[in-house]
Amino acid sequence: MSEIDESPSTPERPGEPLVIRSLEFIGGMATLAGWRPPAELPEVAFAGRSNVGKSSLLNRLIHRKKFARVSNTPGRTREVNFFKVNGTFVLVDLPGYGYARISKEKRAEWKPLIESYLRRSPQLRGIVQLLDARHDPTNDDRQMLEFLGELGVPTIVVLTKIDKLRPSERKARLTALAASLGLDDDQMISFSAVTGEGRDELAEAMETLLAQPSWKAEEPSSLPETTDTDQASS
Ligand code: GDP
Repeated sequence: MSEIDESPSTPERPGEPLVIRSLEFIGGMATLAGWRPPAELPEVAFAGRSNVGKSSLLNRLIHRKKFARVSNTPGRTREVNFFKVNGTFVLVDLPGYGYARISKEKRAEWKPLIESYLRRSPQLRGIVQLLDARHDPTNDDRQMLEFLGELGVPTIVVLTKIDKLRPSERKARLTALAASLGLDDDQMISFSAVTGEGRDELAEAMETLLAQPSWKAEEPSSLPETTDTDQASS
């Protein structure tokens, strides 16, 4: 266990939602049946393809510059990384998927690991799925969203790097993305790690998720058990 509660990257504002008082890295899950922390506290997991802006978003959300560095250290990038926040909930950083420069075989590894995490997480309250506001969702993004839909995991869709869109093109882009995903505009949160736009909206949505009972409490048999034969080679 290590404290990584370092100097704030951006100042906290009085009264902002989800004030982060402490942040502790509790470890990583590297294989399908490998270690994961005991599922005692509510969990919220963050998913998205590599380079979507997940580290930047998490840094902005929790005002800790060094936070995502743990997840980005070699060996940890393809793990599911767990961070205890305020001693009250666990923030889960899922491995970024679909990185173009690694082999197809390696690219396919994210799915079983993420699936296994979902199966082994009775305290999961929901997923924050990140999409780059500028681009159409990739096949991997669609697969992930379909998978979450099938499982019935509550999902918040966040559009990252919104500052890169011109104000004049934002509305049309959001409408097009929502239509292509079968969502309403207001089911998506626009986010910028540069300006901080969307930080509080996301924090509030997370607080709402965390206050809900686990989605699995309602449907305990929705996921088949993992077997050791599923074990990924790494
Ligand atoms: P990750 O691989 O998903 O963790 O992505 P990173 O957070 O490392 O971001 C990938 C690249 O996008 C970096 O060059 C970031 O500086 C850039 N980036 C991330 N978020 C934003 C954003 O909100 N606005 C802009 N303009 N650039 C961003």
